[in-house]
Amino acid sequence: MDEKNIQNLNPAGLYIHIPYCKRKCSYCCFHFSTNLSTRKELVQALLKEIKTRSVELAKFQINTLYLGGGTPSLFEEDELDSIFSAIKSHYHLNSAAEISIETNPDDITPDYTNQLLNLGINRISIGVQSFFDEDLKWMNRAHTAKQSTMAIEIVKRAGFENISIDLMYGLPGLTQKRWQDNLLKLQKFEIPHFSAYSLTLEERTSLHHLVQNKKILIPEDDETICQMGHLLDFCEVNNYEAYEISNFCKNGFRSKHNSSYWEGIPYLGFGPSAHSYIDSKRSWNVSNNNEYIKALETDAPYSSFEKLSTTEHYNEYIMLQLRRIEGLDLNYIAIHFPDFLSTVESALQKQIALKNIHQVNARYCLTRQGKTLADFVSSELFILNKT
Ligand code: SF4
Repeated sequence: MDEKNIQNLNPAGLYIHIPYCKRKCSYCCFHFSTNLSTRKELVQALLKEIKTRSVELAKFQINTLYLGGGTPSLFEEDELDSIFSAIKSHYHLNSAAEISIETNPDDITPDYTNQLLNLGINRISIGVQSFFDEDLKWMNRAHTAKQSTMAIEIVKRAGFENISIDLMYGLPGLTQKRWQDNLLKLQKFEIPHFSAYSLTLEERTSLHHLVQNKKILIPEDDETICQMGHLLDFCEVNNYEAYEISNFCKNGFRSKHNSSYWEGIPYLGFGPSAHSYIDSKRSWNVSNNNEYIKALETDAPYSSFEKLSTTEHYNEYIMLQLRRIEGLDLNYIAIHFPDFLSTVESALQKQIALKNIHQVNARYCLTRQGKTLADFVSSELFILNKT
């Protein structure tokens, strides 16, 4: 199909999960394996999934392609090249598509960065987490603070303009000063986009075990809230748009891929544990590398799915939109969820009175205080026990 006809198709996204990491970060609950011996078979399985599922997006243009993980930067040029070739052969990839890759600082070299650019990758996300070795050490990250600054310099020198950095706050031992210094580095390196996540203590992680055994102390909520306050102040002063509760950017640098998720644009996810969403159907692949490979080799099932009920759809709308700068659109709710309108209106008034939400015309957005309580505020607007 030629470019002009592609432009007329509805938009969709693709996600590829690369399920390998060098080591296990202490707080991480994503799906990955540190056993890389299956990567050759996994690439073959991915190629097969990419090809066989193309029928699901036959009438869509691919506007965003995202390689996440795990650690996609563990894949070499030929492995990434075979994946991109399969996508170009079987999908209508828009020539202006945003193509992102998550990387770890210790994988970034000038040669590798040039290879990524030559493959057509135009957005790079670097998993810095902290610019201080004190934090990286207990996190069990594979990189050092120095490698992070070197990685940023390398990707900038190579010509990447669309750069994102991941940072974390609410960390054990993270002083307000160190958090401020982390934020100042963004300004110093002129980073156009960053994600900042508050640490979540997940079960079945080594950090959870350490906290349970009182080997490590996580900060009080007040400290984390204070760090969120610093974060929002920093964004205001330095012209970063807080376009989503954990995502911040300079003008024109919003992540198109993540924005598509939040707007309900369909996407397919390939690889172990990857999720897909299309036509109100959500599906997810098995979270086990060997089972995924075996299933693809033998044409056995490898995913489960659910069709969202109206209530689930509504609750998801609330949860995702409330996190965005645009907030909830009452007109949208009136059109798509008319049965829930009066309930949500009275719940919104309650949150306005509590100063968790403020109203701008028909839109309802989290206040600063509301951002510190986002999950609670969402749950107060949810509809329970209806279909
Ligand atoms: S590199 Fe990322 S995906 Fe891998 S263990 Fe660390 S946090 Fe998890």
